[in-house]
Formats: sequence, C-alpha cells, structure tokens
Amino acid sequence: RRSRAMNIILYGPPGSGKTSVGQVLAQRLGRAFVDADILIAARAGRTIPQLFAERGEAGFRRLEAEICAELAAQSGLVIAPGGGAFLDPANRARLECTGPVFCLRASADALLARLHADGGRPLLAGDDPAGRLQALLAARRTLYASFPAQIETTGRSVEQVADAIVAQLAPRPLTVDAPGLRHAIVLGYGLLERLPALLAEHALTGAALLVTDENVARALDPAPALPRLVLPAGEPHKTLDTVRLIYDACLTHGLDRAGLLVAVGGGVIGDMVGFAAATYLRGVRWANVPTTLLAMVDASLGGKTGVDLPQGKNLVGAFHPPALVISDPLTLATLPPRETAAGLAEVIKHGLIGDAELFTALETGPAFGNLEQLERAIRVKIRVVEADPFERGQRGALNLGHTSGHGVEAASEFAFLHGEAVAIGLSAEAHLAERLGLAEAGLADRLDRVLSRVGLPTRCPGLAPERIRALMSADKKKAGGRLKFALPRRLGEVTWGIDVDEAALREALTALTALAA
Ligand code: NAD
Repeated sequence: RRSRAMNIILYGPPGSGKTSVGQVLAQRLGRAFVDADILIAARAGRTIPQLFAERGEAGFRRLEAEICAELAAQSGLVIAPGGGAFLDPANRARLECTGPVFCLRASADALLARLHADGGRPLLAGDDPAGRLQALLAARRTLYASFPAQIETTGRSVEQVADAIVAQLAPRPLTVDAPGLRHAIVLGYGLLERLPALLAEHALTGAALLVTDENVARALDPAPALPRLVLPAGEPHKTLDTVRLIYDACLTHGLDRAGLLVAVGGGVIGDMVGFAAATYLRGVRWANVPTTLLAMVDASLGGKTGVDLPQGKNLVGAFHPPALVISDPLTLATLPPRETAAGLAEVIKHGLIGDAELFTALETGPAFGNLEQLERAIRVKIRVVEADPFERGQRGALNLGHTSGHGVEAASEFAFLHGEAVAIGLSAEAHLAERLGLAEAGLADRLDRVLSRVGLPTRCPGLAPERIRALMSADKKKAGGRLKFALPRRLGEVTWGIDVDEAALREALTALTALAA
C-alpha cells in the first residue's frame, strides 16, 4: 500500500503558514503542492464561503472527506489539508499513514498578525477576530498537541520553517559500537517504503526473505517486492515451533550463508527472526525493521534474540546483532493506542535512567513519536549497552521497573501488556526507592503523573502481593541469583544491583495492590 514515495502533510491553525510553507517546501523538494481547500473549491466551482452557504458545513465536510481520501491514495505530494479537516479522525487516519504530519504552531498574536497581513480571511470578517481565534485555538488545543511532530513558526520566516522541516526529513544514522554488538541504525520518516534500496545501500544483497506478522502485513504491507513469510502475531507464537516455520521458508527460498533475513514487526518478530538468523546454517545476516515503539526504543537494540519456552519467557536465545536496524516512525501511525502507551513505558524508563530532558518533555509536551524523542530514547539504551556490552554491570540499570514488572505481568496472567506491567513496576520501585531514602522526595509522584498522562497504569488493585513476590523470584531463578533491583535516585540517574529488605518490598507490593487508591 505504501510502496511509493511518502507524502508530507502540513497542518495547523489559520495563519500558521500551511500554504506558504507548503509551496516553498514543495519547490525545495521538487514535489507538487496541494492545498485541499483550493482543490475543493475548484472541484465544486465555488468559493469555500459559497459552499458553506449553499450546502452547509456538513456538505462541505463531505467534499473534504472525499478529497482527503483521494489525496491519501496519491504519493510524493506536499499536502495542506483544510484547517478543520482533521477534526474528523477518519481523514486524519487516512492521511497520517501516507506521510509525516508536521503541525505548525505559533502564538495567537503571531497568527493574528499574519492573518491581518494576508487580508480577506474568513476569520477576520465580523467582530472580535482575536476572540474568535482564541476560541478556535482553545477548541482545537488537544487536536494540535496530538501530532508528534510540532514545528514552531513564531518569529521564523517561511524559508526558515521550510528548512526546519527539511531537517526533520533527513534520516539520522546511529550506531551501537560495542565489541560483538556493533550495528548501524537508521532512523527516519518513510524508510520502510525504501526498504529494498536501503538494504542495497548497506551492501545487504543476496537472497532475502522478509518475515513479518499478520497484523503488520495487513497494516503496512512492507516491501511487496521481497519474498515474504507472514507469521501469526503475538507473544504466544514466540516459540521454537514458529522458528521452525522460518527455517522451512529459508530452505524453500534457497537462502544460503550469504542470505539475509529481514524482520519487519514488533519485538516478537525481531526476537524470533534474530534467533532464526543466529542459528540457520550456524548464522546468517539479518536486518531488523521495528514497527512498534517498544521495539524501536528497546527490543531492536543490543543484539539479544530469542524465544519463549512453556516454562518461561526468553529462555532460549543468542546474542546475534542485526547488520542494520531501520526505524521508521511512520509505521507507528497504525499501532493500536494501547501498544503505543506500552512502548511509552520504556521511553519513560529511558528518561528516568539517563535523559532528564526526555522525561520532562513527556510531562508537559505533545504526544510522543517524533524523531527527536525517538532518537533520545534510543541513545539512552545505546549508551548503556556500549558501557556494558556483556551485561556485567551498568546494563542492570535497564532492569528498572522490570524486577517488579515481571512479577506483576505474570501474576496478572499476562492480562497486562509487558509495557503496562513495566509502568506499574516503575512506579512501585520509585516509591520503594523513596521509602528507602535512595530517591529524592517527590520523584515517585512525578513519575506516576507522567505515566498516567500517557495512559499507563501505576497500580494493580486486586492482585495478590505474595503472588507477585513469588513470581518475581521465579523470574530470577534463571539467573540463579538473588533478587537485585535497579532503583531511581533522581531524574536521569539510577543505581543498580541493589538488595532490598524483604519487609520494605512487601510493604511496596501491598501498597501497589491495595483496592482503595
Ligand atoms: P509485538 O511484537 O507482539 O507487537 C505488538 C502488537 O502490535 C502485535 O499484535 C503486532 O502484530 C502489532 N503491530 C506491530 N507493529 C504494528 C504496526 N506498525 N501497526 C499495527 N500493528 C502492529 O510486541 P512488542 O511490544 O513490539 O515486543 C514485545 C517483545 O519484545 C517481547 O517478546 C519481549 O520479550 C521482546 N523484547 C526483546 C528485547 C530484546 O532486547 N531483544 C527487549 C525488550 C523486549
């Protein structure tokens, strides 16, 4: 479906510069620019005010929806949808998965000044334009803030805003540089549609087999030109039986030692395909294209691969880093909101571990998923992995929230998604750290607020604390060790390898599971 050049979509309030920036941007990129309102007016042979007068707002919105659907079927455009187009979530969903949406922002004063300079804008006709603009901004505040990519335009020229967008469009190369774990990461909009070319640019040639799951195949239809194996989706399928299907397909497609496996999906697909690549013919190269937030900021980094056994998660595996990780934020547009929130638990964890600014941006800023935030979250994990490639010390910091989280996840019989259980674990461990005098006062409440803000749970009322405690130990049996905690000290700083007094732990788990808040 998206095998052609992505669109670039500009949205924002009246006066934010969608049309003028769109024209300059299109010229700079050698693309066509489409202003949806102009197209609607041309199609109807009437001005927008005439359309409103003759057909009412509902009639206009019907035409607008038709145009949005038409534009979503095209590619390589710079598109400025009308100011109200994304009030209808269906229009937004259609266009958002064809290309990045940049939401242009400006102060109310700047918007009004531009509207006056422009003249002839409907908003200026009648009394109190400033008041009406304020009311429009207030009504659409949540909508505007919900776009991950925000571009501030106050005090910037049209050219400067276009420059800022061009900079956002450039892919960002990153690397994990640790002995035995060296691999490249490319992060950028629209990379999935260029997948075969990107593989070739990185000298990943030879027979290739793309492995994905049924949800991703349906939502993204990745690289239709490559031979493909579509697996059933979900953790229950992360098994040796499913890996055998990958081996079978490798043989059917004649993959030899020079062959390439390409994983396109969440952490389940990445872990499984990586494990198949580690073991098929004693090891072949693989590329990983994570399509969930969790997989982009966590599972795709660090070279761990593996599958579950009936006795527990990730009990069989290998260190086998991919030759290349390709992370395309556009793929996140089709991710179910619950999965996005689950991924945010790991992003918040990364902020807590090593990037206070990433954390504070999530306390107040717009929705997650823009390139900067992804890059920052990825860099935290890269730094930790590079400092401790063999998991002898600092990598223990990544366990923050996971020691308790694993117990919660298992005690809920996997009713909580992994990320949701990690959110509860993060909260439990932050409160514990405060009670132990390790963390600065107020940190746990601050963490609870940011977790709740992005729609994550912080408590698991009704689960039995002793069951969570027992399952925490069961998880550690594979390490044969005592229960060790990573605990936060302050934003951006954790301490790891901590033994926690049993009574304090029970108290924390009791608070976590209490029925009354
Ligand atoms: P997942 O792979 O099951 O994906 C979650 C769901 O989203 C699935 O139903 C999937 O089909 C669907 N999906 C994926 N991308 C989509 C898209 N773009 N649009 C629509 N639907 C989409 O789960 P996950 O949360 O990505 O990963 C969890 C797994 O990652 C666990 O098995 C965990 O053990 C593993 N993991 C591994 C590491 C590591 O270091 N190797 C680290 C953390 C987690």
